[in-house]
Amino acid sequence: MPEVTTIDPAPLRNAVRGEVIAPDDAGYDAARQAFNLMVDQRPGAIVKVADADDAAAVVRFAREQGKRVAPQRTGHNAGPLGSLEDTILVKMDALNEVSIDAEARSARVGGGAQWQDLVPQASGMGLAALHGSAPDIGIAGYTLGGGMGWYARKLGLAANSVTAIEVVTGTGQLVRADVQNEPELFWALRGGGGNFGVVTALEFELYPIDSVYAGVLFFAYEKSSEVLHAWRRWVDEVPDEVTSVGRMLQFPPFEEIPEPMRGQSFSAVEAACLMPEDDAAALLAPLRELGPAMDTFATVPPEVLSHLHMDPPMPVPYLSAHELLADAPAEAIDAIVEAVGPGTGSPLLSVELRHTGGALERVGDGHGALARVPGSFLAFGVGATPEPPAAAAVEQSLVKLSEALAPHACGRYLNFVEEAYDLEVVFGDDLERLRAAKGKYDPDGVMHANHPVTTTP
Ligand SMILES: Cc1cc2nc3c(=O)[nH]c(=O)nc-3n(C[C@H](O)[C@H](O)[C@H](O)COP(=O)(O)OP(=O)(O)OC[C@H]3O[C@@H](n4cnc5c(N)ncnc54)[C@H](O)[C@@H]3O)c2cc1C
Repeated sequence: MPEVTTIDPAPLRNAVRGEVIAPDDAGYDAARQAFNLMVDQRPGAIVKVADADDAAAVVRFAREQGKRVAPQRTGHNAGPLGSLEDTILVKMDALNEVSIDAEARSARVGGGAQWQDLVPQASGMGLAALHGSAPDIGIAGYTLGGGMGWYARKLGLAANSVTAIEVVTGTGQLVRADVQNEPELFWALRGGGGNFGVVTALEFELYPIDSVYAGVLFFAYEKSSEVLHAWRRWVDEVPDEVTSVGRMLQFPPFEEIPEPMRGQSFSAVEAACLMPEDDAAALLAPLRELGPAMDTFATVPPEVLSHLHMDPPMPVPYLSAHELLADAPAEAIDAIVEAVGPGTGSPLLSVELRHTGGALERVGDGHGALARVPGSFLAFGVGATPEPPAAAAVEQSLVKLSEALAPHACGRYLNFVEEAYDLEVVFGDDLERLRAAKGKYDPDGVMHANHPVTTTP
């Protein structure tokens, strides 16, 4: 194992109630594991904070000692963090409390809660949260990066439904940020990520949705071109109540994958329709005419949407590529299928286009640092890389996919960016405003976020 410079755990152990793990402790390897097994995190120390006071104590310790703090829940976006030299990895898992005020249609969650801690409970009360495609994602990390889910075209980014955030800033103060208190911090956190402090609690709106017409149409893989072209034409006709995905899927032969899918390949259309079943069925008719091999659409409670996209429920080694697309004209669909579709030998597990636009593209009142997501589609490709030869083939296919997407690319959405990226492309002129917030709330650069904002260019 490469050298790791240990941060002395003794004073940290005196300062916090939670567990402190040093590089030579037995639990180090388990505690430093990210969701993507390709990411090899080696922090100088790990603190599993027990509460908000612990988070404040770690930040103050780091500040005094000239170290950095990297808050993390699931490690779903650990790739861009880079070296964790001189860094304390703060694991937020214990702050997983969730409370729902059904009457006020609002939720309060700890800074370490996952969507699966909230969504089923809210669903049982006829309420929906703006969660994403995987139930095991951290609510804080997802929301601070924007948060784009199955209701996104109608209800926008999760960040813009947040009403208050409690955070230990880079100066070690626990503050509550909302429209009245610390409004600039409140703005910066909602899109600017973990750059300003350790978030210990979030409050946000829930929506009165007790059922959704949602499901997947699975088609023969060989029909990918026909299906993706038909889906692309179809999205021009749907209202903002429909958020959908067109994709090509090659399921690996793993036991965890249910029998009809295991080891099989498909083209597919997934959709969530916020409308009565009859209206949604009428909309879907032209896609059903293409003859799906399986059709799982039904009227379901909101919690079912957590599983619609079939994201892997356990850590896996993978590489990915992503672009936002201004549009996906017919020639883009052709280029994607020719690059990584049937007959190309592509090993990619999934190549997907998420239909964006709608509320995602509109700038609403009182928005945060990520006001909108440009473009009409989000493209994402991913391949599993269990060993180096597989990684080389996946990398090659991702390059081909990126080349096919390039003529239509219009930026990236940071939650899907798994490497370092130019934040000016994402925030434009607002990057200066984020830098000013960084200077105020984390002047010493204690906070180490996955997509770092610095006080100077
Ligand atoms: C399988 C999969 C499916 C996904 N689906 C979607 C989707 O549908 N929609 C979408 O928008 N995104 C999606 N994402 C992206 C996901 O939202 C980001 O990876 C997000 O950063 C994950 O947050 P996390 O806390 O789980 O991950 P982590 O890697 O634990 O956190 C990411 C970053 O968030 C910040 N952070 C986390 N917790 C805190 C905290 N308490 N205080 C301060 N900062 C904190 C830190 O800067 C940290 O580096 C998906 C990712 C994967 C791998």
